[in-house]
Amino acid sequence: MKKQRVSLISLGCAKNLVDAEVMLGHLPPDRYEITTDEASADIIVVNTCAFIEEAKEESVETILDIAEHKESGQCRLLIVAGCMPQRYRDDLAKELPEVDLFIGTGDAPRIVELIEGWNAKAPPSQISTPDYLYDHETPRLRSSPFYSTYVKIAEGCDNRCSFCVIPDIRGTLRSRTIPSVVLEVERLVAEGVKEINLIAQDVTAYGIDRSGKSELVVLLRELVKIENLQWLRLLYAYPDGISDELLDLIAAEEKICNYLDVPLQHIDDLVLKRMSRRVDEAAIRQLISRIRHRLPDATLRTSLIVGFPGETDIQFNKLLAFVNEGLFDRVGVFRYSREEGTPAADLGDQIPARIKRARYHKLMKAQSRVSFRKNRELVGQIEPVLVEGFSEETELLLRGRSIRQAPDVDGQVYITTGRAEVGEIVPLRITDSTEYDLIGEIVGSGEEE
Ligand code: SF4
Repeated sequence: MKKQRVSLISLGCAKNLVDAEVMLGHLPPDRYEITTDEASADIIVVNTCAFIEEAKEESVETILDIAEHKESGQCRLLIVAGCMPQRYRDDLAKELPEVDLFIGTGDAPRIVELIEGWNAKAPPSQISTPDYLYDHETPRLRSSPFYSTYVKIAEGCDNRCSFCVIPDIRGTLRSRTIPSVVLEVERLVAEGVKEINLIAQDVTAYGIDRSGKSELVVLLRELVKIENLQWLRLLYAYPDGISDELLDLIAAEEKICNYLDVPLQHIDDLVLKRMSRRVDEAAIRQLISRIRHRLPDATLRTSLIVGFPGETDIQFNKLLAFVNEGLFDRVGVFRYSREEGTPAADLGDQIPARIKRARYHKLMKAQSRVSFRKNRELVGQIEPVLVEGFSEETELLLRGRSIRQAPDVDGQVYITTGRAEVGEIVPLRITDSTEYDLIGEIVGSGEEE
């Protein structure tokens, strides 16, 4: 029988990407062939994001673009997976009749059964309760470069921030066991992965569902024992989950990147309270000084929301002043998105889009000055850099990421002098910088002096 050609487009965050890789991993290679050429695919899967309005718009645009392949290409089955169908269920099927099958966030392992059981007369939505969690035995076809990958240590979230739909889409917190994560990381490292990025909605909550307390430190202590693992990076840490014990471990263990991604969302106490965040300004400032005291050299990333309902000019200016203090190396800024079903959607004083936009630009501009200055301070330093290939602009330049730069969200390093293999970690002297990127030369190449 002719193999079915399958193409998959994954939108949104790294957590979604892991789900997409699990879907691909479940397709038996004797019956399915993966292709990046959508025009020649028999089956196309769009793995969607529905976190905020912009993400939903991108998802719908992608689905409509891809649907054209049903007319002009080979496509006989268009599947929409992930957060959008999980959130909108049957409503989405009414809105998008060009889609043949909708599957939810927990349905990745059922992909073959759903494809092979599909028929045009069956209901288009096949959405289960979002309680799935992959483990080390789950087949997963990695799409990231051979030297770097994400490992999801938990799924779902119990934090219930008032603006966030994720707990509804992804379910309650459920953590993988420590042996399962260790076995997966051991296998990935044996396959040549140098950098493991641990992800969850909140990595500090890892294990709380099982033992009532965070088991992140215990997990990290096991992971750092893995020989040949070089960089272990933590992404998405809820501020009140960052213990001194965790900071001390990051300081002591060379393998754990000196990098913290701590979404704070705001700094004003009243806004934080309305967001149902568990920390106030005093706690945030105490946390930053604890981090700086124990990890003076750490790269600190955060994300902030502008235009939350009721955010006054004074509260926004406080946030702007906070960014201008220059405490963060990188800041991701989001415009508040009114998401139905969340408590914040029902709050009065929704902020007009033009004000949100203006606040967004002001905050971005402020942080770009801070980032520029912080990157400037690195000039002259020697940093470990993971070489990723040639730069997009010219094959005369290699590019990579320093230990200070997470994949997909941070900038990169342009390497002007020296040779290295893709996937190699080399010492690099920083010679120049921009607000997002670094430029440097490999130490020991003989030409950098
Ligand atoms: S911690 Fe993150 S994922 Fe969980 S509810 Fe808050 S914003 Fe959403």
